[in-house]
Amino acid sequence: MGVKVLKFGGSSLADPEHFIKVRDIVKSEPERRYVVASAPGKCKTSNNKITDLLYKCYELAVEEKDISEVFDEICSRYTYIVNELNININLSETFEKIRLAVLNNSGRDYVASRGEYLNAKILAAYLGFEFIDAKKVIFFKDDGTLDSEKTNTVLHDVLAHCPYAVIPGFYGSMPNGTIKTFSRGGSDITGSIVARAANAALYENWTDVSGFLMADPRCVDDPKPIEVITYKELRELSYMGATVLHEDAIFPVRCSKIPINIRNTNKPEDKGTFIVPATDKVSENVITGIAGKVGFSTITVEKAMMNAELGFGRRVLQVIESLNISYEHFPSGIDTMSLVLSSKELDRCRADILAGICKAVNPDNIFVEDNLALIAIVGRGMVKTKGTAARIFKSLSDADINIRMIDQGSCELNIIVGIDENDYNAAINAIYDEFVK
Ligand code: ASP
Repeated sequence: MGVKVLKFGGSSLADPEHFIKVRDIVKSEPERRYVVASAPGKCKTSNNKITDLLYKCYELAVEEKDISEVFDEICSRYTYIVNELNININLSETFEKIRLAVLNNSGRDYVASRGEYLNAKILAAYLGFEFIDAKKVIFFKDDGTLDSEKTNTVLHDVLAHCPYAVIPGFYGSMPNGTIKTFSRGGSDITGSIVARAANAALYENWTDVSGFLMADPRCVDDPKPIEVITYKELRELSYMGATVLHEDAIFPVRCSKIPINIRNTNKPEDKGTFIVPATDKVSENVITGIAGKVGFSTITVEKAMMNAELGFGRRVLQVIESLNISYEHFPSGIDTMSLVLSSKELDRCRADILAGICKAVNPDNIFVEDNLALIAIVGRGMVKTKGTAARIFKSLSDADINIRMIDQGSCELNIIVGIDENDYNAAINAIYDEFVK
């Protein structure tokens, strides 16, 4: 197999015990050549993530308050790792440089990025790998978006001259050289960028769970893990709230068709979940996963002969666009159309939306229903399998659950049902039991 890029999340690099596990994983295969490190997360002795502490330091400095207690906690977390593992690195000068930078208001992103910077330096020394500073290989444009072409060219070149390296996740540099971070959890994106630049055969994303589960374990007892999922299916499930990986982490590897393998640092023997561009392999359960969210509302607009009125839908949508609201779904009948949107969004300007729609299309009737939950049943296997929708609807009806909305994407990758929020847990369990148990 070709090069593997590994990203270790904060929980995998939180303390000396985890550093040992990480070393064993990296050293067990010579193909594991490039490692992307997060900042230390919560551990047995501390309930604080280093990144949160760094943001705290930044805020204290801005308010001209004393940073020493928080800053000392940060330094001692790193010092403990270095001392326990006998790593040959002296960080005192670096700590002092960072402390002065915090006090001199060197920017929120710069301060936050030091969590990854320090951890990657320590890990590189521990593994005997080269350290590559992300600011020299990950570039943003002036508008704050990633300059993926420049990043890929420079990083590809640097990696070509460096067989084994550790790269800090989460940040890069702006055209003027200042540090900029991705959004929270952004080391996943760095891992993906490195995998693309290295032409990796696999991007291993090591965390504290053995991949994606078929349903939320807070709803379903001990759900089965997903072995293989496509990028598209993952997008559907993450959109509905199933999160393990930063959403933007898919794009760099997707364009190079590099698979991602979500793995558990605490259980390296587990195979985890493979996220792949496409596969013929269909899950024996037909569906790949179930995810859902509560907190939706529907606005239903009724008007006789609506189907014959040119521009009706456009005018309704224009109203919500002009109020800067996005909608989730748009189911329609012959003389009715409904907009499904997040209740939080709707609450920002409920009266304006309703008045705007009335003015735009002069409906016979318009009403709002709240407390809707959406459940997405996702699976590439649905295209080829008859009766999937029937099984979903029957399982809900057997559980005495009323379906308020149905939406099946034309690519037949998912079926979304809207139900009352109070039925949310029961509905997920009914569908899970039908397909998996
Ligand atoms: N340390 C950063 C965070 O906590 C980035 C990351 O871990 O991916 O969000």
